[in-house]
Amino acid sequence: MTQRPVLIAGGGIGGLAAAIGLARAGIPVLVLEKARQLGEIGAGIQLGPNAFHAFDYLGVGETARKMAVYVDSLRLMDALTAEEICRIPLGEAFRARMGNPYAVVHRGELHGVFLKACEAHPLVELRTSSAVASYAQDGETATAILESGERVTGRALIGADGLWSPIRAQLAGDGAPRVSGHTTYRSVIPVEEMPEELRWNAATLWAGPKCHIVHYPLSGWKLFNLVVTYHNHAAEPAAGKPVSHDEVRRGFEHVAPMARQIIEKGQDWKLWVLCDREPVANWVDGRVALLGDSAHPMLQYMAQGACMAMEDAVALAHEMEAVGGDVAAALPAYNARRALRTARVQLQSRAVGEHVYHPAGAHAELRNAIMRAKSPEDWYDTVDWLYGSTGLEGAVSLEMRGRRAG
Ligand SMILES: Cc1cc2nc3c(=O)[nH]c(=O)nc-3n(C[C@H](O)[C@H](O)[C@H](O)COP(=O)(O)OP(=O)(O)OC[C@H]3O[C@@H](n4cnc5c(N)ncnc54)[C@H](O)[C@@H]3O)c2cc1C
Repeated sequence: MTQRPVLIAGGGIGGLAAAIGLARAGIPVLVLEKARQLGEIGAGIQLGPNAFHAFDYLGVGETARKMAVYVDSLRLMDALTAEEICRIPLGEAFRARMGNPYAVVHRGELHGVFLKACEAHPLVELRTSSAVASYAQDGETATAILESGERVTGRALIGADGLWSPIRAQLAGDGAPRVSGHTTYRSVIPVEEMPEELRWNAATLWAGPKCHIVHYPLSGWKLFNLVVTYHNHAAEPAAGKPVSHDEVRRGFEHVAPMARQIIEKGQDWKLWVLCDREPVANWVDGRVALLGDSAHPMLQYMAQGACMAMEDAVALAHEMEAVGGDVAAALPAYNARRALRTARVQLQSRAVGEHVYHPAGAHAELRNAIMRAKSPEDWYDTVDWLYGSTGLEGAVSLEMRGRRAG
């Protein structure tokens, strides 16, 4: 009898990473994506070395390395004084310590790496225009019930369907995500538009009272990614809404001219009102499990949401392979491996937003003093648990990456 596939609801970065991970473990997969076309928004994303550990395990390390821009440092600037607070070098010493580089990539290109790998793998089937509304299960199978009423049955169902996941609503029943009140505006501009004195090969953060600006180069230095965030207590969630230049300016009238000119260069701004959730320990209901933002949505302040989704994919594939595809054993083991690490990143992302990105007055001065006092080695010690790890120690060692690559 042919094996029933694992169903994956959602063909974003998490869903496609899980699909290729499972397929490489010999498990057939059917991805059910709501949108008419598979793709990602045209913006940038930062990738810590832990993303590269995951790429290697998932067999896409070489292609992923080719599309990345390798930044020299993470720079923290004071948005009021335009002074540098600190700079974390990302050169040889960092790479040697973490086992991989830090990079910035275009989201579409990153998604494309997984999409190509899935399209080329005989065990992956991709279906678009297939919105999953709910699920049912009988102990032997899991069934995705689509909005159209169609029922699709597999051996398991993975909810990689993002922040507003209906699968999570049914599984965890913990209501709507928490609206942070932080509004993020995004724009991507040609490199020539970026003020010349700011064309730094760095992921740069300008931290100011209740606001911050992030920029970095993208796509082989053809583009600059601009992300500016204003803590304006927005009450309603929003995603990708076009917005006027004037609205973006409004939150940044108090920052230094050098930082403000970045906003002047932005074009076609779109806004997101950021949401996250309290961590939950359980992401599994029988043959159904959550992955990526549906499991652990987080604010972007540690730049780790997609990295965590890819790590989830590695853990899921690893656990399924380890027990010969026995779903009942693999899903709780996957959940147990991931829950604490992702909870730590969810909570730490909030804390970083509060204490590093947005403080004012004495709080900001304290931030500057603490961060200035750290040496590069201090920084490497601080981030080692995150960047130097696959989140799978004891199961998938860093040495194993080499064997799985290719
Ligand atoms: C401003 C901002 C900056 C960020 N920067 C970074 C960064 O630098 N580094 C980083 O690692 N992360 C970053 N993130 C986080 C990252 O974007 C997300 O964590 C990541 O994209 C989550 O991937 P996912 O596949 O779990 O979910 P999603 O990307 O949301 O994908 C979900 C998929 O499921 C589909 N879907 C939805 N509902 C259904 C349904 N009912 N049925 C079927 N399909 C469905 C959607 O169409 C989509 O394709 C940032 C986020 C924001 C908002």
